[in-house]
Amino acid sequence: MKTVPSFWFEPRAWINGSWHKMDETIAVHNPATGALLANVSRTDVRSVNHAIDGAVASQKSWRETAPATRGNLLQCAAKLLIERKDQFGRLLSAEQGKPYAQAVGEVEYAASFFQWFGEEARRLHGRIVPHPEADREFFIQHRPIGVAGLITPWNFPLAQGAKKIAAALAAGCTAVWKPAESTPLIALALAPLLAECGVPPGVLQVVPGPGSIIGKLFAEHPAIGVLSLTGSTETGAQLMSAAAPQIKRLSLELGGNAPLIVLRDADLEFTAEQLVRMKLFVSGQVCVTANRVFVPREIEEEFVGIVTDLLRSKRVGNGLSDGVDAGPLIHERACRDVQAMLDESVANGARIVYQNQSYLADPQLDHKAFFPPTVVTGVDDEMGLSCKEIFAPIIPILAYDSVANAIQRANNTQHGLAGYVYGRDMSQCRAVANQLEVGIVGVNEWRPLKAEIPFGGIKQSGIGVEGGEEGMREFVTTQVISLPKPIVQI
Ligand code: NAD
Repeated sequence: MKTVPSFWFEPRAWINGSWHKMDETIAVHNPATGALLANVSRTDVRSVNHAIDGAVASQKSWRETAPATRGNLLQCAAKLLIERKDQFGRLLSAEQGKPYAQAVGEVEYAASFFQWFGEEARRLHGRIVPHPEADREFFIQHRPIGVAGLITPWNFPLAQGAKKIAAALAAGCTAVWKPAESTPLIALALAPLLAECGVPPGVLQVVPGPGSIIGKLFAEHPAIGVLSLTGSTETGAQLMSAAAPQIKRLSLELGGNAPLIVLRDADLEFTAEQLVRMKLFVSGQVCVTANRVFVPREIEEEFVGIVTDLLRSKRVGNGLSDGVDAGPLIHERACRDVQAMLDESVANGARIVYQNQSYLADPQLDHKAFFPPTVVTGVDDEMGLSCKEIFAPIIPILAYDSVANAIQRANNTQHGLAGYVYGRDMSQCRAVANQLEVGIVGVNEWRPLKAEIPFGGIKQSGIGVEGGEEGMREFVTTQVISLPKPIVQI
């Protein structure tokens, strides 16, 4: 059994390089046990404004810092995160509920973004374009937008922050970060690490508090030039409309409803193993997780049998305990919402094949926040389980009769974040992947996301991308200078 580490930070807002206590607090609990971890300062409006002022004040010198220097500071953050992945992993597991190994994986994933954008910082170059008139030329350059408002969810509370912070700071922006209410501790843990690397006060501010208030404040504050949100589609729409009067730049990573298509020739053991891993990862609370599993009708029974046997061998429990494959959901309310979705689908004809309730064997747990990994068959396209984002370890099986029909149904959603194709014939896999209306497709791969690639949704899953060469572009504007060519007499 791992322990919660002692804090190396304070549970307060981080503004201009120091801790700020507020009158009100947010209670942060370990969802697996219900234990109180900390009462974290709930940043008031005055202090959020103070944080934005600090980010404005530090903007000029940060923008003018050599890109290579900015990049070195970010690479230092990557190095320290890797060195301290055990501490960060234990804190993350306690606060979010995910198993320790997954939490350490998230720390490494977060570090990879600091490393990537630390390297990319020096590559934000412009270009010279020939002018139609012989004596002139165009200079095209990218300039940091200014202050970025960053808003993140609770499922990857460290990595989602890292993606945004690393890209924004590499581009020369300063940032004010509002982490999710349920998981502010890991954000506060990161702030002094960046300071230790030499990131100056005011360049990254962390203001824990409610999204509806701080998000609106970010959207309406004239000094915030770009808003980057990862959250639900509903929240994205609210933020977009709050930002509309100022025509503010938006980067939105929103909800998903990913299809996973099993082709007739797929290796069923391998596919089932990947599917179960994917659905136990953060207990299915992942925007890109397979939300609908399309299986050829003639192999449905065989495939469901393999998936069920695998799921039966897994252990659900406290993320800090050894040998646990999946943790709780983020809170009891999430369990109630998922149960209502499952009940509705069952009332309309879906069948529960199996539920793993292994967590009930541990009396130390707060069972109310746990949802059993579940296999459901007989799911049709109208049920809540296939129309909505489930955000729980439920595996809904949808039988199909032709690949064309599976593709058409897979695309029949307002979301377009991720998709998966499993099969042996690579030309067929490629052809199916090409037709999926999503931002990323994993062929025989359950987790293709990496710092090196631009990841973002289409349709109502978002605007813009994170990662890759393109990631920094979310935080810059493009300026063209048309000027006469220098006349040099030689
Ligand atoms: P959420 O939308 O409820 O909250 C996300 C963040 O937005 C939180 O910090 C919250 O405080 C803040 N927020 C809430 N209301 C706001 C408002 N009106 N204005 C501004 N900010 C506001 O989402 P969640 O429950 O924390 O996370 C789950 C959702 O996030 C799922 O829909 C999931 O698909 C999505 N998600 C998407 C990605 C992606 O990369 N596309 C990644 C992870 C999660």
